[in-house]
Amino acid sequence: MQQNVNCAVWFRQDFRISDHPALAMACTFAKQYGSQVKALYFVTPQQWAEHDVAAIQIDFIERHVNLLAQSLAKIGIELTVVQLNTFADIAPWLSEFCAVHDIGVIYAANEPEFNERQRDAALIDASLPLHLLDQDCLLAPGSVQNQAGQMYKVFTPFAKEWKKQAASILIKPLKAAIFEVPIDVPAPIHFSLGDYYPNPVSSESWDCGEGVARDMLTRFLKQDVADYQLQRDFPALEGTSRLSPYLAIGVISARQCITAILYYYPDALINEASPAKTWLNELIWREFYRHLLVAFPRLSRGQNFNLLGNNIQWRNDADEFSAWCKGQTGYPIVDAAMRQLNQTGWMHNRLRMVVASFLTKHLLVDWRWGEQYFRQQLIDGDLAANNGGWQWSAGTGCDAQPYFRVFNPMTQSSKFDPDASFIKHFVPEVADWSLKHIHEPHLKAQHINSMADLFSERAKQEKAYPAPIVEHGFARKRALEVLGALKRG
Ligand code: FAD
Repeated sequence: MQQNVNCAVWFRQDFRISDHPALAMACTFAKQYGSQVKALYFVTPQQWAEHDVAAIQIDFIERHVNLLAQSLAKIGIELTVVQLNTFADIAPWLSEFCAVHDIGVIYAANEPEFNERQRDAALIDASLPLHLLDQDCLLAPGSVQNQAGQMYKVFTPFAKEWKKQAASILIKPLKAAIFEVPIDVPAPIHFSLGDYYPNPVSSESWDCGEGVARDMLTRFLKQDVADYQLQRDFPALEGTSRLSPYLAIGVISARQCITAILYYYPDALINEASPAKTWLNELIWREFYRHLLVAFPRLSRGQNFNLLGNNIQWRNDADEFSAWCKGQTGYPIVDAAMRQLNQTGWMHNRLRMVVASFLTKHLLVDWRWGEQYFRQQLIDGDLAANNGGWQWSAGTGCDAQPYFRVFNPMTQSSKFDPDASFIKHFVPEVADWSLKHIHEPHLKAQHINSMADLFSERAKQEKAYPAPIVEHGFARKRALEVLGALKRG
């Protein structure tokens, strides 16, 4: 390697400077050669449009690009934000950049999605000096395999092997990289995506920055993790970490989360009774879905994991889908969940399962419709987790919920929102209904829908909250027949 060859670090879904191996390697390189580190971030709107990235997530990313530029400036590294239309435009741009700035190596994180992997393969084929690092998961995709050397298709043995491997390594996050030969960099210019996204959705209700995410993590581990197992299924409680928006774009890393768990609960990887066990398991689910995406590229392309799913005759009724999207199904628990998504850009995990089951099983709408709608709304939109969650719910996925298990929205409602406080917040139309009617809306609807009541003064006062879109018993039976296509899966 020549002296004075510079290097670059390409930021992707990793908006942090701590525990960032690519940045750390770039800084080490530059120190060794007495050269410079350049930082890059590419905005490719066409790619985002194809992926249906939610406007609220784009806003969250925009805020983090600006924070990252400030953090990097403090350690003497200038972030260049490059707006190109597609991935294909990156190669010529990078070639010129490398030539002009004498760049010998570009460090970046591997990403699990198919298009991103194709992009990187093409860049390497074009002889660009891309050096990829696995820093997205604690254990790199491909490293947790069964005895036949294959990716697990069931979560539990994956998690067991994952824990065994994790326990055998020293898990230690990297400190914030310090660029040892800092130069003065110009104050970062505020970067805006406004030109590309004329209808932004503000993400201001979520604070920004890696310090914020680390504080949330610490608070959660100190105060809430021991109650997580008991509280995590109740949407009215703040029982989960709410770190997903930060993990999805790498404001905090999986390794930082897991190291923090081990700091407070050193035996969490080996003790089945550890208070942190359940939360750790969720982080392993995150890794499982990312490993799957790499092992089965078709998942990134919207294909069924279980190919028998191709035989399902989805009904795909556009009006029913629209009612589901708007939170107008007549099932208050489903509607409250969808309205939480529409109003806040986030939805509680229990409710993601409830609404996904309702759409795919009660309404027999293709899981891909729901998956896309989620991507268009979620601040934590993440292809691996979203695809995994949807296919799990529909029964088409790897380690899926069996097709014959159809969530009963009434039972889910009374069990997980017993006093209906969550429902009443998002569906004020039912606020003065009895609990029985909120949880079992068909009882109320039958009453209102009787011919005498339908046009009564009382029905008008109830602001026309719809009757249930489909009767549960009927829908369940129909789902079992149609999804029986998966029987031999
Ligand atoms: P916590 O309960 O505190 O969990 C901690 C972290 O573990 C989460 O932030 C997340 O990174 C990870 N995690 C938790 N549960 C899961 C899971 N089931 N699968 C994968 N990772 C998990 N999560 C996303 O981050 N993005 C998505 O687009 C997404 N879409 C989903 C769609 C469906 C249909 C379903 C059923 C689940 C989906 N999930 C998704 C998983 C899960 O619902 C969210 O990660 C969780 O609700 C985020 O809240 P939290 O940060 O408080 O999670």
